[in-house]
Amino acid sequence: MKPLWKWVIILLVIIIEFLVWTYPYEEEVRPFAWSPWEDKPEIIQQEPQSPSEPLEPQSQKPSAEDPETQKPTEGEPEPAEQPQSGDASGYSETPKPADDTGLMILVNKEYFLSRDYVPNDLAPIRYYATDRSPEGRYMRKEAADQFNRMAEAAATEGLEIVMTTAYRSYGFQTTLYNNYVKAHGQKEADRFSARPGHSEHQTGLAVDISAPSVGYALTQDFEGTPEWEWLMEHAREYGFILRYPKGKAQITGYMYEPWHFRYVGVEPAKKIEESAITLEEYLSGSSRS
Ligand SMILES: [Zn+2]
Repeated sequence: MKPLWKWVIILLVIIIEFLVWTYPYEEEVRPFAWSPWEDKPEIIQQEPQSPSEPLEPQSQKPSAEDPETQKPTEGEPEPAEQPQSGDASGYSETPKPADDTGLMILVNKEYFLSRDYVPNDLAPIRYYATDRSPEGRYMRKEAADQFNRMAEAAATEGLEIVMTTAYRSYGFQTTLYNNYVKAHGQKEADRFSARPGHSEHQTGLAVDISAPSVGYALTQDFEGTPEWEWLMEHAREYGFILRYPKGKAQITGYMYEPWHFRYVGVEPAKKIEESAITLEEYLSGSSRS
């Protein structure tokens, strides 16, 4: 080959390399603060909680002198835990203590947790809405690890999912509920706030999830977003189920909540989601029959 041709080929290779490297990939990617090819997706523009922070997010005794720390969801009425529309609170007249069956623990309007129940392995969640109480950014270790993995998997597909609230202590729920009762009366409070001991969030296995497409709010509009669609397809692979599905309020005691997920472990999650049943139905069909 003549030397001239050699140089032409080298020049062409350089030009092609230059074009490939400067191609504007950004146009194909959702406008998030991170790039999918970065090693570490910066979903939240904030450092994860330092491990030196106490693992127990909340004092068991709500302190009257520090009302700020007791506020559950700043500026936004707690939309979770609403019973189905109607007058009745939905609570059992003879509530029973929940059996501590580990990851399969059942807490609802029939089964409750004592004021002393605190999961002993709470671990921080790395992907959260920054405007919510830091006290809620924990789940039991296995659930927290799986949530973090799930958020990272979604991020590789250009989707940002974050938690707004996960663990809530009995004390936190008590203050929350009492404040609502004071402001609205018990009947009304029962419509949108779980009674102390009856919130699944106290198990450390429940998590409310949202996304930037709905302003990190807990809203019915979350349904149908790409993030929600992704969760419907993949949450079970990480052990999470949609806990209060549509049309199951008679069984779960709660209206449809597209944001409230519950960790049960991968195999049970797959069975529950594939059969389109609730945790209540799964437990009565397996361990209780
Ligand atoms: Zn919830």
